[in-house]
This record gives sequence, C-alpha cells and structure tokens, in this order.
Amino acid sequence: MTSPAIRIVSATKRYGSLQALAGVDLEVAQGEFFGLLGPNGAGKTTLISALSGLVRPDGGIFEVMGCNVVSDYRNARRNLGVVPQELVFDPFFSVRELLRIQSGYFGIRDNDDWIDEILANLDLTAKAGANMRTLSGGMKRRVLVAQALVHRPPVIVLDEPTAGVDVELRQGLWQFIRKLNRDGHTIVLTTHYLEEAETLCGRIAMLKSGKVVALDTTENLLRRFASHSLSVRLE
Ligand code: ATP
Repeated sequence: MTSPAIRIVSATKRYGSLQALAGVDLEVAQGEFFGLLGPNGAGKTTLISALSGLVRPDGGIFEVMGCNVVSDYRNARRNLGVVPQELVFDPFFSVRELLRIQSGYFGIRDNDDWIDEILANLDLTAKAGANMRTLSGGMKRRVLVAQALVHRPPVIVLDEPTAGVDVELRQGLWQFIRKLNRDGHTIVLTTHYLEEAETLCGRIAMLKSGKVVALDTTENLLRRFASHSLSVRLE
C-alpha cells in the first residue's frame, strides 16, 4: 500500500493562551492538488511550519511520504518542498547563488542543469545573476518557488504563493504549479482566494480557529457554499 503524501493526526499547537492548532487531522494522497483555506489566523501557516519542522507542535503526528517529521526529519524534509509566505532572503546573494546554497543544504552538487530548468520555467533566466535586493516582489516570490524545487521533492507545499502578485504573474504561477502536479508532484496550496482554490484544487480543507471545519471535493464544497449551508468566511 502506498503511503499518503501527507498525514497529520491530532495536531495541536499553543502560543501562550492562543490555541493555534486544536486537533487537526488531515491526509493528502500522492498526486493530489489539495487546497488549505481559511481566514487570517486560522492556523494554516502554523500547520505548514510544523510539517516542515520549523515549529515544534505540542502534540500530534506529522508525516511526509511515510517519514515522520520528528523521528525521521532528514527524509521527511527531503520529500518536502516548502514555499513560505514571507519574502525573506539574504539580499546580497544572486538568484543562482541562493539556489546553489539551497542545493548544498540537501547535499546536492552540480545542480546547475536543474536550476537552469527551474529558472526557465519561472521566467527567471534573465535574473539568474541578479542580486536578490534588486528584484521586484513578484520575482522574489518566484525565487521562493524555485528554492522549494531544487531538491526535486515529490510533495510541494505553497503558503499563499500568489499573495500580492499581479493577475498576469498569478496566471503564470498557476500554470507552472499545475504542470508540477501533472508531472506527478503532490501539491498543497494555502490561499485566501476561493477562486484560486476552485480553479486548481481537487479537494479542499477549510481551517478555522485551528480546526478543520470542512473537508471535501472542491465541487461539493462549492455546492454547499452556493446553498449557504457552509458558513465559513474566507476573509
Ligand atoms: P494568515 O492567513 O493570516 O497567514 P494563518 O491561517 O496562516 O493566517 P497562523 O499564521 O498559523 O494563521 O496563525 C494562527 C494563530 O497563531 C494566529 O492567531 C497567530 O496570531 C498566532 N501565531 C502564529 N505564530 C505565532 C507566534 N510565533 N507567536 C505567537 N502567536 C503566533
């Protein structure tokens, strides 16, 4: 039996008195295009951060491709590409240098052919030698996507990759993420835009106050929205 791409069981996380994750169960199958929706503060980033080992959960099980994020972190992390929400880079590295450093983090040498392919797909070839501080916000966002891909992870989690991105660039990113999914990557996308989730995702989980309040195929969820039986506001 193949393991799920992502398995999260009874995830909890508290920041002081704030319960950011209040018992989240989630399973994403290999090859799925899965949407994680919810209003500001719902817990989406916390969930992703715990999955990628950046935040220590209080409880629960987190697995990527069958590898436990706590006890088998190396393999779990190898299987996961994360596109974070924050545009944080060292401003003095060039795009290519950053991608080489990221490759080195995963112990990959001589990765330039793959880096070139990623840059071409993200329309960043002309910027390969440019320092990060000279890039626009939209370009930086694409570099974040490139960074997540350098180690060819089968599972890719994108935390609001199109936030603050213009319509044209958003369409370009959608196309590329769709291509990754067609090529066999499992995709998990967090977004505030129902339109985005509707266009891309096969299934959606809605998170609110650290809990999954709805989980269904996109089609079924939209039907429930239309009949007003789902009272989850996205923003
Ligand atoms: P958004 O859509 O605005 O990005 P989100 O669904 O990703 O929100 P989180 O960022 O996971 O939500 O935040 C969940 C809750 O945890 C929020 O109330 C937030 O203020 C709180 N929180 C997140 N990180 C921390 C932290 N490091 N310290 C204290 N509280 C935090």
